[in-house]
Amino acid sequence: MIADKILNFIDGAYVATDKWYENRNPINNKVIGMVAEAGEKEVDAAVKAAKAALKGPWGSMSLQKRIELLEALVVEINNRFDDFLEAECADTGKPKSMASHVDIPRGAANFKVFADMVKNVPTEFFEMTTPDGGKAINYGYRRPVGVVGVICPWNLPLLLMTWKVGPALACGNTVVVKPSEDTPRTAALLGEVMNKVGIPKGVYNVVNGFGANSAGAFLTAHPDVDALTFTGETRTGEVIMKSAANGSRPVSLEMGGKNAAIVFADCDFDKAIEGTLRSVFLNCGQVCLGTERVYVERPIFDKFVAALKAGAEGMKIGVPDDPAANFGPLVSKKHQEKVLSYYKVAVEEGATLVTGGGVPDMPGELADGCWVQPTIWTGLPETARVIKEEIFGPCCHIAPFDAEDEVLEKANDNKYGLACAIWTQDVSRAHRVAQKMEVGISWVNSWFLRDLRTPFGGSKQSGIGREGGVHSLEFYTDLKNVCIKL
Ligand code: NAD
Repeated sequence: MIADKILNFIDGAYVATDKWYENRNPINNKVIGMVAEAGEKEVDAAVKAAKAALKGPWGSMSLQKRIELLEALVVEINNRFDDFLEAECADTGKPKSMASHVDIPRGAANFKVFADMVKNVPTEFFEMTTPDGGKAINYGYRRPVGVVGVICPWNLPLLLMTWKVGPALACGNTVVVKPSEDTPRTAALLGEVMNKVGIPKGVYNVVNGFGANSAGAFLTAHPDVDALTFTGETRTGEVIMKSAANGSRPVSLEMGGKNAAIVFADCDFDKAIEGTLRSVFLNCGQVCLGTERVYVERPIFDKFVAALKAGAEGMKIGVPDDPAANFGPLVSKKHQEKVLSYYKVAVEEGATLVTGGGVPDMPGELADGCWVQPTIWTGLPETARVIKEEIFGPCCHIAPFDAEDEVLEKANDNKYGLACAIWTQDVSRAHRVAQKMEVGISWVNSWFLRDLRTPFGGSKQSGIGREGGVHSLEFYTDLKNVCIKL
């Protein structure tokens, strides 16, 4: 059952406002709910509740109890698995076959992973001699940073939100979450789960709304928010960074990408095709780590283009409930317009259209949805906008290359530096290229394999800071040194 009113969650209670905006289903663009937009008053109430909770039972809770609560969250999300699945698919239109394997289980697992992590984190310890011939010892002690503002995108709403909320709560902070205006449902639903398992009120708060002049800007500007963590577009991240400068607050930014795949002729061809199909088309191309530029060594170029074309044309476009569907709509009409505008630019720039390039024929009311075709181009110069700019859609350009140095130069010639996928069976080359890529994550013979203990983030304009494992603990705690003269 899809709730038709989506409320803010402040101090353990659902809060309506007198300002509502529409929540639409991308499969047919129909309004399926109304969202209560938080104003300055509600954002202030959420931040105050979060600040107060730091001094309440949450602030004095033992680590063991906190870990138990986080583990209970995982159990309860899994108890409500179908509700989360319905909510996520109503907001995004993505196939349930994907959301049930990626979004919801990984969204839940984030709490368990970071609960385990804080349980096992060591601390540094140094013994020193003192001028009087005696000794002193030093140890590091971690405190929560305080109230964390969490600003989220719409592409993997629950997963990317709990990726921040999990470690933030594990470290003892409280949070105010601003989900994307397009995908507010799972963040709201998580409030019910927080109450059910007994997370104290004020620890988890959600404020709905937009960015500028709305909940996003009110939250980032609030002086009692102690740290800001953000996932979204690079230009939004820059605005948030400026906001964080007021009050010198720490900021973690996970931003846009224009990721390359590099396919060498010695690769396992079938695996490279299968992996590239996933990295280009998973989630209708709306994965920050996804591939939009593919470079293929010339001897296998034609064969690769033909096989990727066949794979793209074999994608099963469909609604979330269609068990065979592996390709849903884009998230919104606005995003559909953006992606289609790039489909037009590609043609204007002189691309050869290998497949796709438009909107698929959909029956009945689905024709009003946010669908686009899986699309492949070849033949563009490296200076083309379609090769330089993030499209965030199910599309890629494939270009041939002849030498390792040449492809490295092309792949690195971009302002973004989030991730890459390298396909080769030559171990030395795999290491060499992986290390020379100017990105936060180099995958070799794989894509989107994530071990949450590893650093995650972007180089260049794809991000600032790293999260994951100990890096999340660095961001979500304030490390002090305790020095004791013995
Ligand atoms: P977006 O930047 O438009 O919005 C992200 C969030 O920021 C939303 O909640 C939005 O309301 C909020 N926001 C917008 N303006 C704001 C402002 N002035 N102040 C405060 N908040 C503001 O991004 P999007 O379209 O939701 O997401 C797609 C983008 O996210 C793509 O660029 C993608 O590459 C990126 N992304 C990056 C990662 C990563 O890990 N690096 C992961 C997923 C998505």
